[in-house]
Amino acid sequence: MEQTLVLLKPSAVERALIGEVIKRIENRGLIICGLKMMQLDEKILREHYSHLVDKPFFPSIVKSMTASPVVAMVLKGVDVVEVFRTMTGVTNGRKAAPGTLRGDFCMSGQANIVHASDSVENAKIEIARFFRPEEVFDYTPATIDYIYGEDELSN
Ligand code: ADP
Repeated sequence: MEQTLVLLKPSAVERALIGEVIKRIENRGLIICGLKMMQLDEKILREHYSHLVDKPFFPSIVKSMTASPVVAMVLKGVDVVEVFRTMTGVTNGRKAAPGTLRGDFCMSGQANIVHASDSVENAKIEIARFFRPEEVFDYTPATIDYIYGEDELSN
């Protein structure tokens, strides 16, 4: 089943929103198969945000992403990359739709509480960046048949 990488940024950790985000993930039926707190540094951020390294605001991203530990998660589910991107909302929290994590919990384009992989290909790369293989637990919860219909699980 598809997996995605999620980071609860310092803007979520400092504002005590870890539980709120995890509650929504669990309520939706997404399966948490990896979870840990970690302190990021500039090296990993230069890899993770390589598409933004040359932007004038990159030092500000590093400062905000290293201000406290983050919570890293691997989520599993059918089409989970797209599902969790939709749950996250657009980059700027002020423009994110109500009902999304950013639209409900933040007011910023930078301090926007959550990172979510944007493609299946990038999710694989990002999971390998933040988790060792033995830190990801590919289990199937007993409730799986109540989260999906039979045909969806056989895909
Ligand atoms: P997303 O996180 O929605 O996939 P991007 O990959 O474009 O968005 O950007 C990564 C992160 O960099 C954003 O979530 C945000 O924290 C930060 N960021 C993006 N654009 C800006 C900007 N113009 N000014 C400050 N920070 C930004």
